[in-house]
Amino acid sequence: MTEKKRVVVVGSGIGGLTAAVKLSQTQKYDVQVYERLSFAGGRFTQHDHDGYAVPTGAVHMVPHGMKGPFAKMMFGKMSKGGLDLGRHGLEFLPSMKFACRNIDGVHQGSDGPMEIMRWFPFKDTFNLPRLLLARAKKPGGPDETLDGETWMRKRFSDPFVDFLDAFINFAASVRFHQMPASTTVRMIQNCFWSDRPHVPKGGCKSVIDALRKDLKQYGGKLKLSHEITEIISGDEEAATKGHRFAVGIRRRGREDATWIGADAIIHNGGHPNLLDTLSDDFHIAQDIRDRINNTQAAGGIGFVFGLDDEIPHRDSGVTMLPGLSRVGGYVIPTFSDPSLAPKGRHMMITHQYVPKSDIKAEIQRGREELHSALPWLEKHGEEVAVHSYHRNWPCNRTPQGSELPGDVGVEGIRLVGDGVKGHGWMMIEGVTSNVPDALQGIAASLRN
Ligand SMILES: Cc1cc2nc3c(=O)[nH]c(=O)nc-3n(C[C@H](O)[C@H](O)[C@H](O)COP(=O)(O)OP(=O)(O)OC[C@H]3O[C@@H](n4cnc5c(N)ncnc54)[C@H](O)[C@@H]3O)c2cc1C
Repeated sequence: MTEKKRVVVVGSGIGGLTAAVKLSQTQKYDVQVYERLSFAGGRFTQHDHDGYAVPTGAVHMVPHGMKGPFAKMMFGKMSKGGLDLGRHGLEFLPSMKFACRNIDGVHQGSDGPMEIMRWFPFKDTFNLPRLLLARAKKPGGPDETLDGETWMRKRFSDPFVDFLDAFINFAASVRFHQMPASTTVRMIQNCFWSDRPHVPKGGCKSVIDALRKDLKQYGGKLKLSHEITEIISGDEEAATKGHRFAVGIRRRGREDATWIGADAIIHNGGHPNLLDTLSDDFHIAQDIRDRINNTQAAGGIGFVFGLDDEIPHRDSGVTMLPGLSRVGGYVIPTFSDPSLAPKGRHMMITHQYVPKSDIKAEIQRGREELHSALPWLEKHGEEVAVHSYHRNWPCNRTPQGSELPGDVGVEGIRLVGDGVKGHGWMMIEGVTSNVPDALQGIAASLRN
């Protein structure tokens, strides 16, 4: 019997775990996932806080519901490229509205994309086909000069653009003017042609738990509190000769790294992290290094509020707050899944982009905006947590529209995760849409 080739997965975010499970299901490889934190899931899981399922990042939303790449991957039959995780009881619950907005203190909800158009001048419905049929399947490339805001404002009314801009702020931690026009257009097209957002039953962690169960069932291994610190050529260490790579792994609390051999690596820790750990024996072209070094992480701030059941807002639709300078919107996922908060209570999660580096001042600005846009918050809400995402934390390392290559030119290494989202696909939809490509590259490198 020949030994199975070993694939090491660096990081157990949604990208790393999805790729690891998919590889394990083929039963062709020895799959080992290493996670530096003491929990799996990265920015797509949660911790219990007095009965509130406080997320590590994601606001418990599957952006494109049952029609997007994420649901197709999680629930699709294995013969069709999916993971078939319904076997482990994974379920997504629809949000009660396609989208909502709060305008001058009035809450409005829509059941579908066309219903949204009723909120805006007729000019916007008239011009909508120009947006939905615009050629945007591919990124505009380096020559693209137009930003999303300029493209949108030329064609649509300010209220419509402000609404969508608030949505992009909420969903991607950037504003239209920070994205290329082709990305903006493609993202909106994907939203209009997709399902309403869904909430994983039991929260994001239920997805991670289902992935972990399947990984185990198919013989893959996940080690928590183990950080990959170095990647060198397999020939350099006696223990790893015959493998393409020697991977240095440090267990939390221990000084020394140990080496294990790997024939391929799937990296879920972000491009800068890969550059830091990869030895100079492996060549990465200077233009790719420059792009990685010059790409600035998108930051975000999220408040988690516990709410009583007397709140005037009674649905789980993502609610945009157009016109605010920082906060994009909020969601109350407990109207779809009450188990995410203590009995009789609700949980509301907000999101805002971070244009300035003074994070404390930005948090305060967001808090003030929220209380002024939602006067009922004072009486019915209590702040449970505030999250901030900035500096080089891997998640959202690469802003939407500035994605980096999944293949940096090193045979046997592919990146997955936020940094390599598919064009125009946001959040976990984007992360998942890119996984099949990465796995194809890995499989091809293992045949060589
Ligand atoms: C505030 C916020 C709200 C969001 N809301 C949503 C939402 O509702 N819906 C949605 O679809 N998306 C949402 N997103 C985006 C979504 O959370 C991310 O797209 C997704 O979780 C990123 O997954 P990833 O695969 O890039 O991995 P990450 O979550 O970035 O995880 C990477 C993992 O790799 C580990 N790692 C890194 N380096 C090493 C190393 N050297 N050795 C070992 N381990 C390492 C890290 O510890 C981490 O666990 C949100 C993001 C944020 C910040």
